[in-house]
Amino acid sequence: MRRKGDLPVKTCAQCGRPFTWRKKWERVWEAVRYCSDRCRAEARRGRGQEPERPA
Ligand SMILES: [Zn+2]
Repeated sequence: MRRKGDLPVKTCAQCGRPFTWRKKWERVWEAVRYCSDRCRAEARRGRGQEPERPA
């Protein structure tokens, strides 16, 4: 038996809200920074210079 409380939680870098581990992130959880695709898109649009790939 697993409780929901067992799942890891992170804080979204865009909206600042906590979000819980999801199955679709099982391989990339370490790299996940946003709670949703929407937040990721907004973060990119908002800042313009997302340091994903240092040139
Ligand atoms: Zn978010």
